[in-house]
Amino acid sequence: MEKEKEVLEGAEKEVVSKNFIEQEIDKDLAEGVYDHVQTRFPPEPNGYLHIGHAKSILLNYGLAQKYGGKFNLRFDDTNPTKEKTEFVESIMEDVKWLGADFEDRLFFASNYFEQMYECAVFLIKKGKAFVCDLSAEEIREYRGDFTTPGKESPYRNRSVEENLRLFEEMKEGKYQDGEKVLRAKIDMASPNINMRDPVIYRVAHMNHHNTGDAWCIYPMYDFAHPIEDAIEHITHSICTLEFEDHRPLYDWVVRECEFENPPRQIEFAKLYLTNVVTGKRYIKKLVEDGIVDGWDDPRLVSIAALRRRGYTPESIRMFVDMVGVSKANSSVDYAMLEYCIREDLKLKRARMMAILDPVKLVIDNYPEGETELVELPNNLENPELGSRMIPFGRELYIEREDFMEEPPRKYFRMFPGNEVRLMGAYYVTCTGCEKDAEGNVTVVHATYDPETRGGSSERKVKGTIHWVAAATAKKVECRLYENIVDEEKGKLNEDGSLNLNPNSLTILKECYVEPALAEAKPYDSFQFVRNGYFCADSHDSKPGAPVFNRIVSLKSSFKLPK
Ligand code: ATP
Ligand code: MG
Repeated sequence: MEKEKEVLEGAEKEVVSKNFIEQEIDKDLAEGVYDHVQTRFPPEPNGYLHIGHAKSILLNYGLAQKYGGKFNLRFDDTNPTKEKTEFVESIMEDVKWLGADFEDRLFFASNYFEQMYECAVFLIKKGKAFVCDLSAEEIREYRGDFTTPGKESPYRNRSVEENLRLFEEMKEGKYQDGEKVLRAKIDMASPNINMRDPVIYRVAHMNHHNTGDAWCIYPMYDFAHPIEDAIEHITHSICTLEFEDHRPLYDWVVRECEFENPPRQIEFAKLYLTNVVTGKRYIKKLVEDGIVDGWDDPRLVSIAALRRRGYTPESIRMFVDMVGVSKANSSVDYAMLEYCIREDLKLKRARMMAILDPVKLVIDNYPEGETELVELPNNLENPELGSRMIPFGRELYIEREDFMEEPPRKYFRMFPGNEVRLMGAYYVTCTGCEKDAEGNVTVVHATYDPETRGGSSERKVKGTIHWVAAATAKKVECRLYENIVDEEKGKLNEDGSLNLNPNSLTILKECYVEPALAEAKPYDSFQFVRNGYFCADSHDSKPGAPVFNRIVSLKSSFKLPK
């Protein structure tokens, strides 16, 4: 959304300019085309929703809210071949989670089959539809292309009576799949191929998830969709750009079916993201090949995956607002989504102690067997989150990278002879380390200054490191993610397969976290000091034994667009 500053009555006020859809709606309301606004989100229940759908959901819901109108969730379940009840459930859950409250405004297009059938009969009676016996292949040949006009079907001039009888027989199951179709009679010479007598009903002897075996003829999308909208008194039927060329047919259907105050279609550009996979076809393959562990694998951008990863509805709404609505297709940087979740969690989540790559630190002059509690603020930027006490002791875990035996210049963390602050606890001076036969550091040694309790002193130190007390730490698994496809080298390989990033998942089995984190429940999220934001996994966490997914690291090179 574009923001313009405007000086109003001396005070500076920010005015958010309207997107092109809002401008169209304003015009329709001003001209009296409609006296209310009604939108819908019409998913086909044939897969899980993804971030692109979130954009459509929030756009449609947001418009209804803004104009005091209504928002429908309508399952576009007119195609019995691909649809499943499983997806109906997951889609409803996702839409609710995003905050698009459809209350009791839940509809199924398949409940309108009777009305659609009546519309078809109405068109036949008007001489605007005919039953055609051409095969699918022949219909395609007759249709022509961009340069060749279409050829009329030899069945185009059947009488109304004959068409009514044949259509009735189609409905009664007299014909096999593909034997006959019902076509709109529009214009085979139209420059718009969609208008060349499109098929509007087909025979399909198939069981439908909602209507069972009640029907063996099913309406085609381009015929069904405008009727669904009209039945629900939708005013603005918002869809993506690929339907722009179908709009004349949409208008034809609602006009010829003589709906009062018919809806109008407005198209906007789909949302694409860099470095991720949104196409159902590709995701399905990743799932089937076992590369991801289901449709909600945290590396995917289905709504379920984003939720499992630890994204919040607020962060997705912020993202969708930032992206805005446009008429031109473009790809949005995945880093923008990450920016939004960081912004959302920054002031809301506690900053916890967690060591992802541990090495032991022994404070040799700290009394053996003794422990104490030290106080840590929960969120430095938000004092309202208060503070908590965490255990401290003689043996701790620190990050392996926070110690170096021979440090380079400007390394201010642990190295022999250097003094650092243990966050919220004491100053310690490194005295050396122990190594195994291969030369790996196994234990770091230090001494502490009891006068520096709370981690402060007149003496300045340059390094502050985080830690957890070994005796009370909880060992957990953490998972780190990278983009699933390597965008730099191109999303697809030459053979059309996905160019997968081999490092998209790193599993760390031996992380140590402060005791309070052992109680984390699925979807709880936290900041882990210096390591990023993490969320307890909803599949693999067990009571008392959470598994943490990294939502996002703390820093990025992403700059907010001006
Ligand atoms: P996909 O091709 O990604 O599987 P789809 O278009 O088949 O998606 P539908 O269930 O038919 O999925 O779409 C429901 C609604 O979501 C439609 O109005 C469609 O235009 C919209 N939509 C789908 N993908 C996107 C996207 N990437 N950005 C914005 N809106 C989208
Ligand atoms: Mg679709």
